[in-house]
Amino acid sequence: MHSVEEVQKMSVVAPATGEVIAEIEETPVHEVPFFYQEARKAFGTWSTLAISERTGYLRKLKQLMVDEMDEIAKIISDDTGKVLTESIVADIMPTLDAIDHIINHAEKVLSRQKVKTPLLLIGKKSFVEYMPRGVVLVISPWNYPLQLAMVPMISALAGGNSVILKPSEVTPLVGKCIEDLFQRSGFPEGTVQVAHGGKEVGAAFTSGKPDYIFFTGSVRTGKIIQQQAAKDLIPTTLELGGKDPMIVFEDANLDRAVKAATWGAFTNSGQVCMSAERLYVQRSIYGKFLEKLKKEVDSLQLGNDIDSDVGSMTFPAQKDVVREQLDEALKQGAKLVTGLKPSDWKEDMFLPLTVITEVEQNMKIIQEESFGPLLPVVPFDTEEEAIAYANGTVYGLNASVWTQDKAKSRRVASKLVSGAVVINDVLITVANHGLPFGGTKESGIGRYHSEAGLRIFCHEKAIMEDMGFMKSEIQWYPYKGKYPLFLNLFKSYFAEKRDWLTFAKNYIALLKSNK
Ligand code: ADP
Repeated sequence: MHSVEEVQKMSVVAPATGEVIAEIEETPVHEVPFFYQEARKAFGTWSTLAISERTGYLRKLKQLMVDEMDEIAKIISDDTGKVLTESIVADIMPTLDAIDHIINHAEKVLSRQKVKTPLLLIGKKSFVEYMPRGVVLVISPWNYPLQLAMVPMISALAGGNSVILKPSEVTPLVGKCIEDLFQRSGFPEGTVQVAHGGKEVGAAFTSGKPDYIFFTGSVRTGKIIQQQAAKDLIPTTLELGGKDPMIVFEDANLDRAVKAATWGAFTNSGQVCMSAERLYVQRSIYGKFLEKLKKEVDSLQLGNDIDSDVGSMTFPAQKDVVREQLDEALKQGAKLVTGLKPSDWKEDMFLPLTVITEVEQNMKIIQEESFGPLLPVVPFDTEEEAIAYANGTVYGLNASVWTQDKAKSRRVASKLVSGAVVINDVLITVANHGLPFGGTKESGIGRYHSEAGLRIFCHEKAIMEDMGFMKSEIQWYPYKGKYPLFLNLFKSYFAEKRDWLTFAKNYIALLKSNK
């Protein structure tokens, strides 16, 4: 499509080692219309396939991913710096599980559903049909570059849409890997296309009039995309940031809570939108908790070999965000429980795992996403106070509540303004594909996973069927003489105790008045 001199290349730097490991060709912006043209052409055929035929392709994709699991895990780890165990557990497994879920549920969720028809519309039948939207644009981030791209892609594909993916330029190797996986699974030409490049490429595709935009990334970019989408009235799903609270009451299983906080805060080096990002611990156990937490955190192994616990940061600019937040907090009196002050950090992308106390609710470290291995711990006294702290940011993606009192855990969970709440565990709602996933407040708009995740990519079409035998309907013209009959009909029908006799008399009179 393009001449050689026009091709821009992106260097892929492995964050864990700093080495350039590949070069990926950027998609020239002038090719955007061609992508849409191809996608629309492919949609014409793909949308007419039976759902079982479409899921047949997903089966091939799944098999290929199972066969090449180890190779894919290595690509993810090279590109992101995350440890291999996390590539397989938190990126590949959820993608495979989502494929399975979609294979098992798409037919039922997307096929025509019968809906009850009210008595006033006697003689008709009602249905909902799910009609694919067209071309779905998926724009994905770098923290879980496989699953956050592939899960919306496969959901949209199952619904009969063609898909254009613009993966994050921070992890282009995974973007290339996704392109390759779809290609080798034999999806018909143009059904899945991957465009490589940065925000200019993303912006060009956003304004190329897709039929739906599924975006995962920062709040800032989400707002830009929503503005562009509004101009063209394009529906969107926005999966944005989080600053997720973990609340530990004094009756919690302390050892488990300590391990969960450690994993929840430091998995993927804290570059998770739904991790444990603010820890609230009841004052009576605060000291003991901190002591155990420090020990647990200090036992973790940083590195990029097969047995390491915590890998490197992925995106160099993210180090600056973490540095700024930590510097500000320390300057304002916060204390390190473990970790180093930023001036003592090494040059590489491995950040020390940091736990800090003496932080205030209004500090950036509490209010803004850190997306790094930084865990502020705050004591609280009462249930109400913990809930107020937890709800006190602009985000609301996930939360976790720790107590052995079931009633209390459910009471608190129901008061948290959050897209998901986990009780006595962290993050794990995302692993059940049957549950909806998405945020409240600035954490985003819309839901995916679950039935919603398949249906958002379809127009919900209402259908009513009439056999067409009757010459007219009671509400059609002429109106002469109908008003009092309707008055009696509706009064008898909507009365607290339905008056069937009056209803039948007036209904028959209305039918007769049509002749
Ligand atoms: P993150 O730092 O979490 O990756 P970003 O919001 O910066 O969040 O990026 C998420 C995705 O959005 C990336 O694929 C990026 O290239 C893309 N992107 C960034 N800016 C824009 C934009 N203005 N329009 C469309 N896509 C964009």
